[in-house]
Amino acid sequence: MLILSSALLAGFPHGFTTRAGGASRSPYAGLNLSTSTGDEGASVEENWARLRQETGLSFARVKQVHGSAVARRDAPSLPGEEADAVITARPGLAACVLTADCVPILLGDPSSGAVAAVHAGWRGTLARAAARAVEALEREFGARRENLLAAVGPAIGPCCYEVSPDLAERFVAEIGPSACMVHPRTPRVDLWTANERVLCDAGIPPERIEVIERCTACDDEAFFSHRRDGVRTGRQVGFIAPPRAPFLD
Ligand SMILES: [Zn+2]
Repeated sequence: MLILSSALLAGFPHGFTTRAGGASRSPYAGLNLSTSTGDEGASVEENWARLRQETGLSFARVKQVHGSAVARRDAPSLPGEEADAVITARPGLAACVLTADCVPILLGDPSSGAVAAVHAGWRGTLARAAARAVEALEREFGARRENLLAAVGPAIGPCCYEVSPDLAERFVAEIGPSACMVHPRTPRVDLWTANERVLCDAGIPPERIEVIERCTACDDEAFFSHRRDGVRTGRQVGFIAPPRAPFLD
């Protein structure tokens, strides 16, 4: 199993899974963590078991719907409640989101230990889903936004994310010019930078935000990609848990 991580979030058990180390067969090979696109249930369950074994964590999951609702979890859960972010302050319980081109964003509060995992495709990015999670961490756990640490995980990059001119214009108008790439024929949206912008606008200092800059569509060995592979592909997971022992910022 190969799990990518953020240096900024080193104080928190966290990571971004890759395809490596799973039991699923093509076109879902190997560590596919979703049954929603046609993979065999037994393979997906085996993959979750391997992830629990590898990390020593339990996982709080929600049913993702490309919105911006935030769900608080104090115990492990299977997808049921509709939300696109999970927050928790329970040590050993990982907030997590599934993605295959959309952006997984992880947040951690070094003071309270509270964490969030956010799923943001283009809809969730325009809806500023990551900012809703920042607000929820403040409201529920007393986190202060200027103390939060954030990582923007593997997602489709500006190299591959061609969009309609209309959608590009919305990103420029609602997020800012840095969220788009000018290209002679087809405009491209930069979801990495757009979400970094959303986190900055929400009050997290730029030096406390890490952008992993790994494109899911470019790297078929490491990542599932809906844009590259179509409907029949898998999902990777971004996860973060409150530390079991308190640490100093
Ligand atoms: Zn790419």
